[in-house]
Amino acid sequence: DAEVVLVGRSNVGKSTLMRELTGHSFDTGGKPGVTRQPNHYDWAPEDFVITDLPGFGFMSGVDEDHREEIKTNIVRYLEEYADDVLVGILVVDGKSVIDIIDRHSGPDSIPYDVEMFHFLRELEIPVVVAVNKMDKVDDRDERLNELCDRLGLYPPWKQWQETIAPITAKNGRIEPLNEAVRSHLHEENRDDL
Ligand code: GDP
Repeated sequence: DAEVVLVGRSNVGKSTLMRELTGHSFDTGGKPGVTRQPNHYDWAPEDFVITDLPGFGFMSGVDEDHREEIKTNIVRYLEEYADDVLVGILVVDGKSVIDIIDRHSGPDSIPYDVEMFHFLRELEIPVVVAVNKMDKVDDRDERLNELCDRLGLYPPWKQWQETIAPITAKNGRIEPLNEAVRSHLHEENRDDL
């Protein structure tokens, strides 16, 4: 089945976004690390399933081994189903993403978000970065340009509206994401002709 996957660190607002996308109620603010299995939901207007993969990265009360296990499972899932995945939505928290990326960048380390972005692209899955919590971001253009820079996309971000989608899931302001996802779905259709 055609599938859209959602990945992201825990607490970026994935459950909130899933609720907006599907109209289905999700456990937000629940115990971290609990969503271990992928959850599938129908996305009615566009005839595909949307899969919520477990949150990765730091979670209080979840030990390092378990975090690694969660990440390994996500990677395996994506490798296994890459052919069916139309779009990968990488959800980040617009307020903290640059600090987190910069803190975890080093000669021998690549931050999870950047790694996941490149990993999806290696699997030839079109990626849309849903930059959530934009209601908390004042210097919007600057922040989004910095994010492009960290992901290896030339700023300005406005050239990348099929890849960078600033949203406020909490208030239902997700139109840039819908637009970006749609643009990739229609690309797929063109390839089929
Ligand atoms: P998940 O762990 O990624 O599933 O994150 P949740 O959906 O549980 O959200 C984590 C926290 O971020 C909750 O307190 C949400 O209310 C909050 N949140 C989600 N979306 C937004 C948003 O667009 N703006 C703001 N300010 N907070 C948000």
